Amino acid sequence: MTPRGRTFFANPGPTNIPDSILRAIDRPSQDFMEESFIALFEDCVRRLKRVIGTDGHVFMYAASGHGAWEASLVNLFSPGDTLLMLESGYFSESWTEMARKFGLEVVIVPAEWRRGAQIEAVKAALAADTAHRFKAVCTVHNETSTGVTLPIREVRAALDETGHPALLLSDTISSLASLPYAMDAWGIDLTVGGSQKGLMLPTGISFTAVSEKAMAAHRVARLPRHYLDWSVMLGRRHRSFVGTIPTQMFHGLAEALRLIEGEGLEAVWARHRRLAGAVRAAVRVWSGNQGPELFCIDPERCSDSVTAVLMPEGHDAEAVRRAAFGRYNVSLGGGLGRLGGRVFRIGHLGDLNEPMILGTLAAVEMSLADAGVPHGRGGVAAAMDALSL
Ligand code: PLP
Repeated sequence: MTPRGRTFFANPGPTNIPDSILRAIDRPSQDFMEESFIALFEDCVRRLKRVIGTDGHVFMYAASGHGAWEASLVNLFSPGDTLLMLESGYFSESWTEMARKFGLEVVIVPAEWRRGAQIEAVKAALAADTAHRFKAVCTVHNETSTGVTLPIREVRAALDETGHPALLLSDTISSLASLPYAMDAWGIDLTVGGSQKGLMLPTGISFTAVSEKAMAAHRVARLPRHYLDWSVMLGRRHRSFVGTIPTQMFHGLAEALRLIEGEGLEAVWARHRRLAGAVRAAVRVWSGNQGPELFCIDPERCSDSVTAVLMPEGHDAEAVRRAAFGRYNVSLGGGLGRLGGRVFRIGHLGDLNEPMILGTLAAVEMSLADAGVPHGRGGVAAAMDALSL
């Protein structure tokens, strides 16, 4: 059956693209060396820096987030360098795997995925590294696979308290323009970001914002690189992108920034907090009657951009996703890596309002029933109550 009505897209990325962004992107090709495009590009970068909270340089790539991850590694390190990776979930594992393929040594601060790395353990690892082997501490600010947010400022404090000189790297792919973030004020040396989540754009550009301290590390880093090389980029007119620039994306980015600025960045964060509260209220009700529960078990760390829902033993999360998409045209995120079949994820970031969240939650509640999953009834009503506070 052909589904009717709009798809409710509740994936944690890509996310809904506002119609005005789609219209802004829908235009013919143009010469990216043309002065009018350069002006648009420079204006976008200047305004994007405000969203990231940095005066540092922003380097961009025609790539998804993986490209920006790779850029962070090849631009900052030399073969044999050691990184400290804070375990959070599937994405910290993937970044680790990538680093090892580049010949970097990765020491992991292990963590239970339902909580993420504990600050005491981070502090202990840093304090034990008296030879300052760790060149960087790598963090996933918001672990999209688990719905757990890491208190990055506490990681910064751990570095400061132990007097450790390592760089602090932060992946904000599912937190930028959704959760509070302030790169320079929080003492972060490198921010990894992408287009397809809080920025509400199609997938296709990613970027790294870089502090002065990280630029100094770059100047002596010896891993081979070319397309992602910041030094090559600095020699080019746009001081970013080594190859052809996806011009349409910048018309979309200008519109995305206009939307974010119009709402106000703090109001964007507050909206995400409010909608996330409604999602969590619903899941808490569903967890009655031995139903599915919040995967995140630290209330201080539950993500305001994505909620992972853990299935009761013996029930398959994919059955819920199939019912939601097949019957109600609602697209949910699946479980990644070892969480495959065990969780489904509700993305609540980007272009989203109350009725969209309530519609999604109603479809999930119906899908739980359709898939024969025990659950407490009345999740949507609890979400409505949370939104009326
Ligand atoms: N890091 C995080 C936290 C992510 O959520 C993702 C993708 O969802 C990535 C990295 C990888 O980005 P991409 O899929 O855009 O390559």
